Amino acid sequence: KKVLLEVKNLKQYFPIKGGVFGRTVNHVKAVDDVSFEVFEGETVSIVGESGCGKSTTGRAILRLEEPTSGEINFQGDDLLALNKAQMRKRRKDLQIIFQDPYASLNPRQTVSQILEEALEIQNVVPRKERRQKILDLLETVGIGAHQVDRFPHEFSGGQRQRVGIARALSVDPKLIICDEAVSALDVSIQAQVLNLLKELQRDFSLTYLFISHDLGVVRHISDRIIVMYLGKIVEIADKQSLFENPQHPYTKALLSAIPSTNIFEKRERIILKGDVPSPINPPSGCRFHTRCPYAIDRCATEEPKLHSVPGKGHQAACHLIEDGPVDFSLIPSNY
Ligand code: SF4
Ligand code: MG
Repeated sequence: KKVLLEVKNLKQYFPIKGGVFGRTVNHVKAVDDVSFEVFEGETVSIVGESGCGKSTTGRAILRLEEPTSGEINFQGDDLLALNKAQMRKRRKDLQIIFQDPYASLNPRQTVSQILEEALEIQNVVPRKERRQKILDLLETVGIGAHQVDRFPHEFSGGQRQRVGIARALSVDPKLIICDEAVSALDVSIQAQVLNLLKELQRDFSLTYLFISHDLGVVRHISDRIIVMYLGKIVEIADKQSLFENPQHPYTKALLSAIPSTNIFEKRERIILKGDVPSPINPPSGCRFHTRCPYAIDRCATEEPKLHSVPGKGHQAACHLIEDGPVDFSLIPSNY
């Protein structure tokens, strides 16, 4: 399989200004040295609690926020080396869908005008053919052509998200970043939109980077899953390995929170204490050590690397598994 997107050592630090001179006194380390690849045609999900850096990673890839450092290679081009005009052109291939389509659709534009504008910016279709293209797009996302002159407020939440998808699709992208794209929708509508995304992936050879806090949703759509905690990747695996054989205590804790329907999933129940610490001064060593039931002394001082564990491309960052998987039920819990 071909690599479409390669994120290398990505860091996104946001300065915190303070004092009378408004100098930078500290940083929020929102994304701290994150590397991963996305292959053509697959769906990679990034999951984690709010503040783990998943949305920031998505925004950095599109340069909606300039990353502090790192590399973002897309189809062999280093996106961070492109100037503004070159990047604007490149944005045709990388689109994003947000959680709240209402906030990202101009309320004074009809659906037709919204899509027209997207087509205009990227100039992908001759002007004469735009109306037909817009009608086709609406058809594709399951909105009747008769709704083309309606305004966003005339649609339901699910339909508005379909409009958002049509807009992303209008420029024939390669990669679509879905940032909590179904999180605001009712469960039944979520399933419909997820099914639509899957169909579109098949029909248009799309690749998805799917960002979500909800492992239940991620399970439906992903090929591979990245788990983040406080700006770091703690585990990467294909979907089956992650659900059936999670290695990192944090992943185990996330999985504890969703009901299992699969008898092969033997889950330790880990209910986490406390909240996610601040990313301004994240805990030393393993950032999860302040909440990890299995933490040992070393965890507070030494940062764990990603270790390979059995399972295709399965890696987790925990000291306890550096020599291979362990049975956590045999390890005394600190809780
Ligand atoms: Fe827990 Fe230590 Fe593993 Fe971090 S490295 S997850 S603190 S056991
Ligand atoms: Mg977010």
